[in-house]
Amino acid sequence: MITEVQLERSTTTADTARLPAPLDLRLSLLSAGDMGPSGGPNPRRDAWLRRQGVAPQRTALRHQTHSRRVVIVNPQTVLDYHCEADGIVCADADVSLALTVADCMPIFVWDRRSGVRAALHSGWKGTGIVAVALDLLHAEWGSVPTDLEVVLGPCIGACCYRVDRARALEFGERWGDNTVRSDAAGAAYLDLRAANRAILCRRGVRRITEVNDCTVCSRDLGSYRRQGAGSFVRMLAIAVGEDNSYE
Ligand SMILES: [Zn+2]
Repeated sequence: MITEVQLERSTTTADTARLPAPLDLRLSLLSAGDMGPSGGPNPRRDAWLRRQGVAPQRTALRHQTHSRRVVIVNPQTVLDYHCEADGIVCADADVSLALTVADCMPIFVWDRRSGVRAALHSGWKGTGIVAVALDLLHAEWGSVPTDLEVVLGPCIGACCYRVDRARALEFGERWGDNTVRSDAAGAAYLDLRAANRAILCRRGVRRITEVNDCTVCSRDLGSYRRQGAGSFVRMLAIAVGEDNSYE
């Protein structure tokens, strides 16, 4: 079952949106400012987390490199943000999982049975990281697809993700023809949602929530494409731990 939703902008905090899903998922909006880098400290990021009632010292973030590397974190390794990875898996309820995004897709996975959660950073290069995470969940916790809830977060949409022919060809061959679309003039666009949906459906995942907002079309979201390489704002996407309150 695929559920399509829109981001829920908060009426009380102008710099935060919620991803409607079975998990507590939140996104810092453009107005919250740049939440990067992923591989280093950021006082603005810590302040935003505290405003969410989330403890920065119990929020895991890794140095993202557009890879498919997924690592397991625990309360002892939570602050190791120099560790290079684009996926975090955690079994501890008192840890929150964070990613920085600006057009790439944040993906969240939750195993209802074991409670294990994953947060993944998935752009065109890293597409497939969700399959790596599913393998890891199965190997370490025996997770099966029918127990999983997966949320595909806001990203650059197929409306805006224009690429050159070589990249479109490569992406389409790897992930399927329906993951690339062409406009009337023959320009090619990638569909990250379609690619991840296809991977998950092939794996037998039944519960998928798709957040349809496009980071380029939505002016209150940070976007590498719309804002440019020198001035884009990285947003923070977080899965809040059940017991991760800031004291
Ligand atoms: Zn768009």
